[in-house]
Amino acid sequence: MSVTSLYPPFRVLMGPGPTEVHPRVLAALARPIVSHFDPACFRLLDEIRALLQYTFQTRNEVTFVVSGPGTAGMETCVANLVEPGDKVIVCQNGFFSGRIREMVERHGGAAVAVEDEWGRPVDPEKLEAALRRHPDAKVVAFVHAETSTGALSDAATLAEVAHRHGCLTLVDTVTSLGGVPVRVDEWGLDAVYSGSQKCLSAPPGLSPVTFSERAMEAIRRRKTPVVSFFLDVRALADYWIGRSPGSPAAGSSACGVPNASRTYHHTVPIALLYAFHEALTLLREEGLENAWARHRTHHERLREGLEAMGLTYWVRSEADRIPHLNVLRVPEGVDEGRVRQHLLEDFGIEIGAGLGPLAGRVWRVGLMGYGCHARNVAYFLSALRQVLAT
Ligand SMILES: *Cc1c(COP(=O)(O)O)cnc(C)c1O
Repeated sequence: MSVTSLYPPFRVLMGPGPTEVHPRVLAALARPIVSHFDPACFRLLDEIRALLQYTFQTRNEVTFVVSGPGTAGMETCVANLVEPGDKVIVCQNGFFSGRIREMVERHGGAAVAVEDEWGRPVDPEKLEAALRRHPDAKVVAFVHAETSTGALSDAATLAEVAHRHGCLTLVDTVTSLGGVPVRVDEWGLDAVYSGSQKCLSAPPGLSPVTFSERAMEAIRRRKTPVVSFFLDVRALADYWIGRSPGSPAAGSSACGVPNASRTYHHTVPIALLYAFHEALTLLREEGLENAWARHRTHHERLREGLEAMGLTYWVRSEADRIPHLNVLRVPEGVDEGRVRQHLLEDFGIEIGAGLGPLAGRVWRVGLMGYGCHARNVAYFLSALRQVLAT
């Protein structure tokens, strides 16, 4: 076998992630490697934390990045919040909420599913009823933007219901963060994770997380250690922040100053973090509100074009849809796999297929992050029109 360098094809990434990456972010990957104890690395970590506090709209001190994809952030939240025997209400309305439920069970928790149809947002009244039936529940978990169905839930209302019943909230914002408002402090979300490769438009492999003081208090009160060494929030914070939050020895760490109190946990993926820093800087330069408006505008243009072609959305009501993840019904008599294959082979466009029960029934068209612009809308509409006509 003769192996030479591998150069992948250029793709127009219009699936559910990863998304198109800005050239500035790609270039950041090639910056010099420094060690995870270099002062330049500490400055990078501090700046990423500050940028994330802005992105998550939070003042939470325990805000950092898990070295792993969105699923690692999910497992970080579950592993730290859930102790064996803890009762967790899992609002289940799609593939990713099902995955949370499985994780809760693997970590020894007792999951109680509150089910909604795939394609509906989580119903706050069903949650309320479940919490009345289970007054001993400790955590309510839900997915803000269910990427498998295209449904956007009302995170503020769900968190309000959960808190009224004395529960912590565990919230998936992998697809929502950067595309629609996510207001961690205002909504009172407690353990929140996202992913680098959806609306934040960085390479895959990182998962930003943030924990409220309420969540940290519950974690400090655990009776059993967190089963996962790699995903232990307090140990990770000892490196990322430089001390155990709330520990008596806590002093303030000025941004950029090497902090001798940082404890080694693992070697962070520095090149990915350069790229992530650049992606968050781009978002900061644009402004969150402008980014949300851009996602809304291009969604509307795409929707008008799709509806003019007779296509319809899986989520019935526009108010319940994730604007930047368009989940479309495959029209009667159309071979959905053939359409995706033609889009990829003839136009270089990738869109997503359906997951689980929606396999073969939907397409998932993402207009996320840097890839959410007029050129992609026009290109996709024209390519799809040609493919459907043949
Ligand atoms: C993509 C996604 C995940 C998982 O992210 P990975 O980076 O693939 O691990 C989790 N939750 C939601 C809602 C997602 O869309």
